[in-house]
Amino acid sequence: MKVTFYSTKSYDTRYFKRSAALLADSSFDLLFQEAKLTAQTATLASGSEAVCAFVNDHLDRAVLEELQRGGIRYIAMRCAGFNNVDVRAAAELGLRVVRVPAYSPHAVAEHTLALLLTLNRRIHRAYNRVREQNFALDGLVGFDIHGMTVGIIGTGQIGSVVARIFLGMGCKVLCVDQREDEALQAAGCEYVSLDTLLSQSGIITLHCPLNESTHHMIDRDAIGKMQKGVTLLNTSRGALVETKAVIEGLKIGQIGNLAIDVYEEEDNLFFEDKSADIMQDDVFARLLTFPNVLITGHQAFLTHTALSEIARVTLDNLLQLEQQGECANEVRVEG
Ligand code: NAD
Repeated sequence: MKVTFYSTKSYDTRYFKRSAALLADSSFDLLFQEAKLTAQTATLASGSEAVCAFVNDHLDRAVLEELQRGGIRYIAMRCAGFNNVDVRAAAELGLRVVRVPAYSPHAVAEHTLALLLTLNRRIHRAYNRVREQNFALDGLVGFDIHGMTVGIIGTGQIGSVVARIFLGMGCKVLCVDQREDEALQAAGCEYVSLDTLLSQSGIITLHCPLNESTHHMIDRDAIGKMQKGVTLLNTSRGALVETKAVIEGLKIGQIGNLAIDVYEEEDNLFFEDKSADIMQDDVFARLLTFPNVLITGHQAFLTHTALSEIARVTLDNLLQLEQQGECANEVRVEG
């Protein structure tokens, strides 16, 4: 099967080639394109049976129509989220979409913790100071996480791992999810309303998917309900948070710390070296000025374990569609 990859980075090529080589009967022909998938670049996949895309490729109707014209039958997302795919249009065009629902929830959960611990204890600032032989501690004061109340929005694969990590750190864990996880409850987590979570948590972390109902769920109103000085973490999807409202919250101290691995306009920035460019995004530029904001560029998934699993499951998804006509990881239209 011929598969054209978009938005390819060196690690994608490495892990997918390795995974294809491990298959006993691999008939894969993998073509790696650095370009993002757009209506213009869709023609690069002509003649392939499948395309493999990532989080910042936009698979809207126009792109999907172009792919279908080129003979594509399968769309393999090498990620969990599929908010960037017009699933209804894909179904209408007969394009079948698969994804990797769980490659390593621990990778993202552990990165969430890495962000929190780094930001809270100002490790990023301390690292730079010590390298310059500045051993002063002013400005590095953090807080004990033990004993705090942590609010987790979304207790699926990733959120449930995060919940258990915080339980292990001696925190009270409040959760919001329409699907209550009995094992988490038995472990000591408590499901509450969103308003209760917002008003009682000193740390709030987002692990729900981005869709119409969750878009900008953290807006001015939600931030107003939070405790003053709250720490907000987002390793899920950028548009869960209204960034301008968060900046207002940071300016008045309502938000005490912000750590994000995702940003609502990240597709113009992340995954590329822009260090020689003039920053055009004024909202992002403002975020960079806060000493209590820590940003990573969508790297929470970037572990050896996760990359190996993403490659293995993606190729397996395509093999299942081709050989069995169905795949448990197929994305279906709701309603
Ligand atoms: P999941 O589907 O296992 O869990 C999501 C949970 O959110 C589900 O339990 C669902 O019921 C719940 N939910 C849905 N709407 C909600 C709402 N309005 N309020 C509260 N809960 C709600 O997904 P997952 O594997 O845990 O991944 C979570 C998200 O993390 C993904 O959607 C993806 O956007 C993001 N993610 C980010 C990275 C990264 O590198 N930063 C990597 C993987 C996944």
